Amino acid sequence: MLEKAPVIGGTTAMSGGCIWIPGHHYLAAQGLTDSREAALDYIRAVSPDGWHNREEPLWAAFVDHAPQMLKFVEAHSPTRFNPNRDPDPYAEVPGGMAYGRNISPAPIRIGQLGPWADKVRKPTMDLRLSYEEAIDTSLYANPKRHMPRLLPRLIWRKLTGAYPRGRALTIGLLKGCLDQGVEVWAETAAKKLLMEDGRVTGLEVDRAGEAVTIAARQGVILASGGFDWNKEMMAEHFPGPVEWTASPRTNTGDGQRMAAEIGARLDHMDQALIMGVTPVQYEGHLHGQPAADYFLPHSMIVNRHGRRFVNEKQMNIGLAFAEMDPDTGTPAHLPAWRIYDHQFATRYPHAMPNKSVPGNYFEAETLEELARKIGVDPDGLAATGRRFSDFARTGVDDDFDRGASIWDQNRGGDPDHKPNPTLGTVEQAPFSAMPFKASFLATKGGARTNARAQVLNEEGEVIGGLYAAGNVMANSFGSKGVGAGTTLGPCLTWGYIAALNAVGAAS
Ligand SMILES: Cc1cc2nc3c(=O)[nH]c(=O)nc-3n(C[C@H](O)[C@H](O)[C@H](O)COP(=O)(O)OP(=O)(O)OC[C@H]3O[C@@H](n4cnc5c(N)ncnc54)[C@H](O)[C@@H]3O)c2cc1C
Repeated sequence: MLEKAPVIGGTTAMSGGCIWIPGHHYLAAQGLTDSREAALDYIRAVSPDGWHNREEPLWAAFVDHAPQMLKFVEAHSPTRFNPNRDPDPYAEVPGGMAYGRNISPAPIRIGQLGPWADKVRKPTMDLRLSYEEAIDTSLYANPKRHMPRLLPRLIWRKLTGAYPRGRALTIGLLKGCLDQGVEVWAETAAKKLLMEDGRVTGLEVDRAGEAVTIAARQGVILASGGFDWNKEMMAEHFPGPVEWTASPRTNTGDGQRMAAEIGARLDHMDQALIMGVTPVQYEGHLHGQPAADYFLPHSMIVNRHGRRFVNEKQMNIGLAFAEMDPDTGTPAHLPAWRIYDHQFATRYPHAMPNKSVPGNYFEAETLEELARKIGVDPDGLAATGRRFSDFARTGVDDDFDRGASIWDQNRGGDPDHKPNPTLGTVEQAPFSAMPFKASFLATKGGARTNARAQVLNEEGEVIGGLYAAGNVMANSFGSKGVGAGTTLGPCLTWGYIAALNAVGAAS
């Protein structure tokens, strides 16, 4: 296993660790049932138009292998999982579930990695609460209520060096690999795929400055993530401003480049996971940390006209930010702004913008004055504030249905807020604003594969010996997440499928 960075884990280690797995073995303990048909119905119902024929075999392979993958990981590593109560984001459609399909890794001690303990990538913030502890309690809405109960376990984790979320996943997987005798090389960048008779037979790599050739008897599995930090590729596929990227800087699209060089077809290159983030320092630079402030009441998102354009609470808010203006070819809704009022600042002070970052926080006594400070139409913003507040009083958003779906009602708002956990008036001075930028957590385009994770060429033929898994492959769901753990579930499962096929163990 080769890793370009000095630390192991990539975006996965920085992530929340939420994993979407239909039909997994923890469902029964929750009194829930799922089926292959229900999962496929759901995926079909929420997938982009025009993708169905081509992606159907990949959806079926994912649904069939995901539960097996989970058992395999547990059998070959110390990783264990806990269910969480995240709803499917489109729980209302056929096959959707109000909760059950998302799981997250239990906290795990890093010390068991021995000398590798220092080589696990750190997240932007050292959060010791597990995904489900934070999400199932709606912790973000009222941390003071839950922290006294949660504090002892946080102290215990600190004392024992135990980590949750994506870091737990990385620790467990790395330990599993080391225990099975997998050779792991950090600071080793794959540079070029080597071919013989039309088949991939190895790799040229740069191992801490030394050129090394590696022969691959059974195959090479590309798993080098997205191309978020490749300026040229980003400019080509996502024209417009990109700031506060959240993945590691080593994700520069090397796998996509190497695959294309030997004739692989690249697909879905304009698909990505985009979210609202807050800027934080990481490795000496400003970096994106996924944020949930705009899920809470007394906040809304507007464009330069001061108008709302999206249900701020939906999971797939990134789709609106990826939308291009057909006339200019640039993002249709940028620049955009999160707007809060005094009620937000007093109820959720922990969710307020980071004021130490220049250009990240603006405040004014009226919405008109705030609009002038941030270059937004003052009349538009004032009118939107009045209209949004009227919706909040009735609990019904007539424009974008914010707060209407099972997801909106049960995930990430403030359960104490009535009549709707995510809709609150924006009408009390002072008002404040923070930019919403198109911040990438992960691009989702890459090598086109078949249902065995084999990379295909432009003619749709298999390139022997080459597999792809994770964000380096053309993601069969695209930008639209089917669950909170939409990328990690498939990333893990496609790694499993690729390996089964590479070693000839697939049924
Ligand atoms: C803060 C944050 C939270 C997230 N939370 C969730 C979540 O809860 N659930 C979810 O489903 N998704 C989440 N995501 C998205 C998810 O983490 C990613 O989609 C997923 O981790 C990508 O996995 P991957 O294996 O494809 O790539 P990565 O985990 O990024 O791994 C790719 C690795 O390849 C290395 N590499 C690159 N080029 C080379 C090369 N030439 N040679 C060798 N190595 C190379 C990179 O350094 C990197 O370590 C989150 C993302 C972020 C940023």
